[in-house]
Amino acid sequence: MTSWQGRNVTVAGLGVSGLSAARALAGLGAVVTVVDGGDGDAQRTRAAELAGTGISVRLGDAETLPEGTDLVVTSPGWKPSSPLFTAAAEAGVDVVGDVEIAWRLRGPDAAPWLAITGTNGKTTTTQMLASILAAAGLRTAAVGNIGTPIVDVVLEDRAAREARSIEGGGGRREGDDAYDVLAVELSSYQLHWAPSLRAHSAAVLNLAPDHLDWHGSMEAYAADKGRIYEGNQVACVYNVADKATEDLVREADVEEGCRAIGFTLAAPAPSQLGVVDGILVDRAFVPDRQKQAQELAEVADVRPPAPHNIANALAAVGLARAYGVPATAVREGLRAFRPDAHRIEHVADVDGVAYIDDSKATNTHATQASLAAYESIVWIAGGLAKGATFDELVAGAAGRLRGVVLIGADRALIREALARHAPEVPVVDLDRTDTGAMSEAVRQAARLARPGDTVLMAPACASMDMFTNYNKRGDAFAAAVRELGASA
Ligand code: ADP
Repeated sequence: MTSWQGRNVTVAGLGVSGLSAARALAGLGAVVTVVDGGDGDAQRTRAAELAGTGISVRLGDAETLPEGTDLVVTSPGWKPSSPLFTAAAEAGVDVVGDVEIAWRLRGPDAAPWLAITGTNGKTTTTQMLASILAAAGLRTAAVGNIGTPIVDVVLEDRAAREARSIEGGGGRREGDDAYDVLAVELSSYQLHWAPSLRAHSAAVLNLAPDHLDWHGSMEAYAADKGRIYEGNQVACVYNVADKATEDLVREADVEEGCRAIGFTLAAPAPSQLGVVDGILVDRAFVPDRQKQAQELAEVADVRPPAPHNIANALAAVGLARAYGVPATAVREGLRAFRPDAHRIEHVADVDGVAYIDDSKATNTHATQASLAAYESIVWIAGGLAKGATFDELVAGAAGRLRGVVLIGADRALIREALARHAPEVPVVDLDRTDTGAMSEAVRQAARLARPGDTVLMAPACASMDMFTNYNKRGDAFAAAVRELGASA
């Protein structure tokens, strides 16, 4: 393990993960400076929180590398082309992210990592995995791009193991907070900056263009995602329906004996997990050699039982099985899982119409998945397109659209795609970007819907033109649906 005593570390940005790394490294004796380009009240308040920690803060300059820096720690959102990182490269100084720091801080025999990435479904799958691991009686946490900063969890684990060895016992005792295994969600940014990470097993759920402005190209984005498989020990889990994920497995350099395990919504081939007659089936980790396959759970145990989410469940199950979790815990863990808010969340039924909040569908890939889950849809869409095109999405869903209500800054892009691929579908273009527009959108959607339809708010766009974030957009939708229910 690296000694941090006296090392000069520069942390980029006063964000949550940066500050957690800064505190951890200062605690281990590093000389830490946090730099941030801002110099407003928000930065000053956060800088003030570091008073007494020995950490220096430099505000108003995010570009020059502080004298004597040995290592730079990045924060999400800082592009690889940021001048600070260019300066570091010129000075021969490594740049790493919080996940790399967490990895380097793991003690001997630390909890192994089961890692998950993909364009969509990461959070859901990571939480499902944590639920399954917990059902198997393992102490675990969902960390990474989610929950408590990963550096904090790794340090907690390390301290618990050290206490255990001082007390001189091998096993767990009362009050022992060591983790057995971690469910780790990793973004493409985090993977980009985590060169030495080596997971026990990892899954790439799917790959579609996203964040290309950050990575520079689809190839660079895929390569960063593919890092998750590097050095895997037991299993590389991939999506049979998404060949790009399988290609990444093939290109990865893994430990001897590490297996490629596919998941599919169809009947599984050997070394795959899949679905047969509504049952999730494992043909990869079958302990009894006499048996060809092991039944794990029912599709109905997965919530919501939309196709993309069953795929997420199979990926989570693949990782859990790679870690040795038995079938009974898989079923129990899936049943206990509750999806987070704003992810295909059923808000209410009003006049026989179901209202679904999928505000988290901020790109076309996610929206495609939720549009595929319903038959007759009034679709509320629009917002910030982030450079996306909508032809494929609209063409694929045209036959299932009862109507469309458009809101937000880039709605014209969707309107034009609808004119090309679904000219018969009625479209209400609200021409509004104020927050009140959501109420109006829901009223218009209610007008278009017939009993048995689904009103689906899955905007395929980011929310920041109208709302602070996708949570607020989802809340506004839910409030509007409740208003509608009250007046019905
Ligand atoms: P992430 O953490 O990758 O952003 P989430 O689990 O938060 O993923 O889900 C993000 C959005 O993507 C939601 O709208 C959800 O309905 C959709 N989604 C979830 N899983 C998938 C999948 N496997 N394929 C496509 N879309 C998905």
